[in-house]
Amino acid sequence: MHDKDCIFCKIIRGELPSKKVYEDEQVYAFHDINPVAPVHVLIVPKKHIPSVHHLTPEDEQLVGHMFLVAKQIANELGVAPDENMNKGYRLVFNVGKDAGQTVFHLHLHLIGGRTMSWPPG
Ligand code: 5GP
Ligand code: ZN
Repeated sequence: MHDKDCIFCKIIRGELPSKKVYEDEQVYAFHDINPVAPVHVLIVPKKHIPSVHHLTPEDEQLVGHMFLVAKQIANELGVAPDENMNKGYRLVFNVGKDAGQTVFHLHLHLIGGRTMSWPPG
């Protein structure tokens, strides 16, 4: 069930270009076109789900898988924390327009390679 006008569905299908980082049967990960840090990767399910708020119990395994893929990519791109939890990265789901969501196909932001502030803007 791909949404024909969805930009991320088009990227997953190869109809729009992207810089791929990782792919398996369930997810596709690629570099964000407008990175906010030295590492900014989007981990996207191949299934078209508009947001976290559209998840159902059948998606539970998929979401867990997205986090494990994020961890693997963080290791590969050199932003994983060391044994003292120095360095590190941020994982973000924006849910809805007020939270900053602009693409309505579920995506997990993996952001790292610099220090970050909290709270977010
Ligand atoms: P959101 O604001 O919905 O949480 O995040 C959407 C992200 O998708 C933004 O960081 C934006 O830069 C990225 N993005 C939007 N369109 C494209 C695209 O065509 N290619 C890539 N690689 N990233 C995109
Ligand atoms: Zn989509």
